[in-house]
Amino acid sequence: MTVLRFCEKCGSLMIPKREENRVILVCPRCKNVEELRGTIEGYVHETHVLHKPSEKTIVIEEELKIGVKVKATCPECGYSEAYYWEVQTRSADEPTTAFFRCVRCGYTWREYG
Ligand SMILES: [Zn+2]
Ligand SMILES: [Zn+2]
Repeated sequence: MTVLRFCEKCGSLMIPKREENRVILVCPRCKNVEELRGTIEGYVHETHVLHKPSEKTIVIEEELKIGVKVKATCPECGYSEAYYWEVQTRSADEPTTAFFRCVRCGYTWREYG
């Protein structure tokens, strides 16, 4: 299951957009458009603060993630549902990293295989 989609043309992270009753993915760089299969339920909107050593400034990068709700037990609060998504690493040698985020308290953890 691929949750994060990258643009086929330029490799940018595709941004989901709601359009009436369907969801499309739009590339912010080259405006490539793809139709999203599935639903936008479990959509997680995160803000990351990144330190770029080359610029010595704080860059706030918004990242949109589409996740699905799964049965998983939160290690923080014990709740039984979490959002799930995978991050594909660039290297083919490395496995996909799976993440969970508790629906109730927002705690995020990695899946350890
Ligand atoms: Zn693109
Ligand atoms: Zn929790």
